[in-house]
Amino acid sequence: MEQKIFYIKTFGCQMNERDSEIMAQSLSGYGYVEGMDVNEADLVILNTCSIRAKAEQKVLSLLGYLRKTKLSRPTMKICVAGCVAQQEGARLLARMPHVDLVIGTQNIYNLGPLLESVDKEGSRVVTDLRDDYDIPQFLPKLPQRKSGHSGKDRNLQSPSTFQFSKFVTIMQGCNNYCTYCVVPYTRGREMSRKAKDILEEVKTLVEAGVREVTLLGQNVNSYGRTNAVAGDGEPYSFSDLLKEVSNIDGLARLRFTTSNPKDLTDDLVRSFRDVKNLCPQFHLPVQSGSDRILGRMNRKYTAAEYLEKVKKLHEYIPDIALTTDIIVGFPGESDDDFQQTMNLLEAVRFHGSFSFKYSDRPGTRASLFDDKVDEGVKSERLAVFQKRQDEISLLRNSEYVGLVKSVLIEECSDNGAKGRTDTNHIVHFPDCAGHVAGDIVDVRIVHAGQHSLRGEIDNKH
Ligand code: SF4
Repeated sequence: MEQKIFYIKTFGCQMNERDSEIMAQSLSGYGYVEGMDVNEADLVILNTCSIRAKAEQKVLSLLGYLRKTKLSRPTMKICVAGCVAQQEGARLLARMPHVDLVIGTQNIYNLGPLLESVDKEGSRVVTDLRDDYDIPQFLPKLPQRKSGHSGKDRNLQSPSTFQFSKFVTIMQGCNNYCTYCVVPYTRGREMSRKAKDILEEVKTLVEAGVREVTLLGQNVNSYGRTNAVAGDGEPYSFSDLLKEVSNIDGLARLRFTTSNPKDLTDDLVRSFRDVKNLCPQFHLPVQSGSDRILGRMNRKYTAAEYLEKVKKLHEYIPDIALTTDIIVGFPGESDDDFQQTMNLLEAVRFHGSFSFKYSDRPGTRASLFDDKVDEGVKSERLAVFQKRQDEISLLRNSEYVGLVKSVLIEECSDNGAKGRTDTNHIVHFPDCAGHVAGDIVDVRIVHAGQHSLRGEIDNKH
């Protein structure tokens, strides 16, 4: 089979990163190898995001560029996948006739056969979104890599490129229909993977040398609620899955994302205390501090209820690192509503947050709301929020100075070393002192910066 080159560009969230990994692996069976230069590729895949207008614009401008490239390389194939593909479907092909294949978020496992059908039948759009979608099993093919201290093993894949931390998708889609969000329309109804498939994948990763796994879904708290995931059909919750995954031999660290606060149960809160390798770090998107706006967003919790859950988390894990998502300028948001978001920031003092200006998304209820906030006001509010968040992040990071933190080494080089604490903070340190990437070491924190910490390996502990 003649070797062909594919180039994949991923936009957006971890879910898309993961889907790109699935598409890349499936192509190896069709004579493709991955290339790093779009201009040399026989196949270009854009795995797209439509969570905000800006994300969609980026895709369309890259497709504009590829139109010119394809004029000089007519045999090049262009495939658009991900949420813009799902959202736009045939409209995208009409607008961008140089695209050969538009595939939706539930069709990525069929990329190979679909490309072959394009060769025979010409350009295609395949974006069916099924309510009874059964997520196929996926076992990543990783190079064998053993962390630890036997020199010989270190000569396999160089440590600096091996990923010791991996994402594992546990579910797809969402049933919450927050009024600003496209996910239910682009990823469909909530579907949970079978627990045995997830456990098998995590075992495969750990056997290949992966030390840390993050369980991934749009709303992991509702795992196993909409379809049977346990072999015997018995009820099986996200906390059950956490316990089983955490007991996999050799798994050093466990994380999960993303959670909707309305589905955060006491059982799940207790998991942070009871599940031995579950990291003391939690991303809990609140979006706004105003009950009026939370109601218009259809988030189904109040600011007080959110603060109550944060208080409970601190009761079980006092030093848990909390991060969140914030939208400013949601339709109808008044100065007072925004002030309540700032009050909530002061009350929780998040270690960090992802904050964005509201933008209309096709098909969402909020896009039909008429009291839109002026763009200038949105920008002002975002700047105010981010300035205060940066101040708080620096203060929270300074709390680690003098402490010894457990760090998973990600990189060791002559120019220094880098790793991540169990609270998900990036740490830079002078050298690895005989350790290698993949090792988990104690690091004494000596300096706190805005977005990272500095330390030195502490061999005394
Ligand atoms: S819970 Fe998250 S993914 Fe689901 S609709 Fe709301 S914002 Fe979107």
